[in-house]
Parts: sequence; structure tokens; C-alpha cells
Amino acid sequence: MNAAAIMALRTAAADVEVVAQTGSTNADLMARAAGLARPLLLVAEHQTAGRGRAGRSWLSAPGDSLTFSLAWKFEGSPQRLLGLPLAVGVALAEALGALDVPVQLKWPNDVLKDGEKLAGILIETQGAPDGGTWAVIGIGLNLQMPADLETRIGRAVATAPWLARMDRNVLMAALLDALAAAMNQFEQAGFGAFRARWDALHGWRGQPVRILDNGECVQQGLAVGVDDSGRLLLDTDAGRVAVLAGDVSLRLGGA
Ligand code: ATP
Repeated sequence: MNAAAIMALRTAAADVEVVAQTGSTNADLMARAAGLARPLLLVAEHQTAGRGRAGRSWLSAPGDSLTFSLAWKFEGSPQRLLGLPLAVGVALAEALGALDVPVQLKWPNDVLKDGEKLAGILIETQGAPDGGTWAVIGIGLNLQMPADLETRIGRAVATAPWLARMDRNVLMAALLDALAAAMNQFEQAGFGAFRARWDALHGWRGQPVRILDNGECVQQGLAVGVDDSGRLLLDTDAGRVAVLAGDVSLRLGGA
């Protein structure tokens, strides 16, 4: 991949860098955010220590996936960004749909294809001296999946062979533009602008689900959708409850 080519193709007001290899593009941008003058997309051809939520790992093989992070500065405190991970899921899912890869969302922000995980999103934040907040939005997207890597991941995953055949610079520029447009929209209108779109992409709507906290089931019910702040609405025996993302995980099925 080539930074100059992506820069020439994108319309977003963001700089682009491509590195052959790094541990984690999120870690790199978190370390650099304080010194950035404008948004920056960092793409790694190979990411060797990709991170997921709660210390989990995101595994990828060089050439078989897209691994990148976008540093974007928002006005105000991190509390305003509660629904951002879901908004990023919507932006990514809509962009993939426009490229003829229909996907669904699993709360809070996994992108599923045919029921398995195609992409993961990890957002980290950092206060800026002017009172704003830098968000570092990390995305791993499977294009192809070697069998040995799937074995190491330990669960079935989804791939997008159709996208694997696309020019990577064109694909990256399209995703960058979709994300940048969503970030601008989130800055203006918050998660409210994304709620109905998230619900329209909800893969587990009406399904029995369990919320796990450290492996322990803390809620169960039927998944309804999300509210205006991005909490999952669950219909439980005790009525409708709203679940905050935090570090909880969502699984299909009743007890
Ligand atoms: P879960 O998917 O278990 O509910 P999560 O949404 O918090 O957890 P993330 O933190 O987004 O998951 O991603 C980390 C998890 O994704 C890992 O624990 C692993 O199970 C899975 N994983 C790691 N690499 C890949 C990959 N390339 N494709 C699909 N899934 C992966």
C-alpha cells in the first residue's frame, strides 16, 4: 500500500501514513496524538500485536487483512464519545455494504458477515490540552484468513474475498472517507444521527442473548436495539433494561 496513492484518492481532511510493520497502530497513534495538528490515518501492512477490548488480541497475517487506526480530535470531554464505537461500526458497515459486502452489527461494535466476525473496532481516547479529546479508532478487517491463523484465533471468522481482489489503496481511501464523514457527523449531532442506522444493521435483533461480565452472565433477554446513547436495549423478564458497553460481552442464546 502507498500513502501518496491513498492521499490522492481520499477527500477526507486527514493525513495518511503507511508502515510495513508495527506492533499496534492504536498504540502508535496514542503515543503521537498530542503532537498531531490534524487527523492522521496510520496503516500497517503487518500488525504484530493488534489489540481488542479488555486486553484481548486481534490477530492478522500480512497481506490478508487491513489493519489501521485513525486519530481524530473531537471537541469536549470523552463523555461525549460514549456512542462513538457504535457510530464507527455503522460507518464501516455502510461503507462495506456500498462495496457490495453486506454485513451486520453485533453490539457494541463488531462487524459480522454471515454471522461471524469480519472486523473488530477498538477506540481509545486521550485528553487534549485545549479541552478536546483525541480518539484513536483502530480497525482490523479480514480480507482472507489462512487456516492456521483461524486455528490460533480459536473460532470461526468471516472474510471478504471480494474486497481482497480490490486495489488496497482504493479500498483504504473509501473506508477513510466513510469514517471521516461519520466523525464529522458525530461531532455535529452525536450518536442520535446513527441510532436508526445501527438498528437497521442489527444482526441479533429479536434474538435471545446473554450479557457476560468476566465470563459471568449478568443479564439475559431478547435483543431489541440501541438507545440514543448507544446502550443495548434488552427485553428481560423484569422488563426493558439498557446495558452500557463497558467491558461486557454479548453472546447469543438463553441460559
Ligand atoms: P467478543 O467478540 O468475544 O464478544 P469483543 O467484541 O470485545 O469480544 P474484540 O475486542 O473486538 O472482541 O476483538 C478481540 C476478539 O476477537 C478476540 O478475543 C478473538 O476472539 C477475536 N479475533 C481476534 N482476531 C480476529 C480476527 N482476525 N478475526 C475475527 N476475530 C478475531
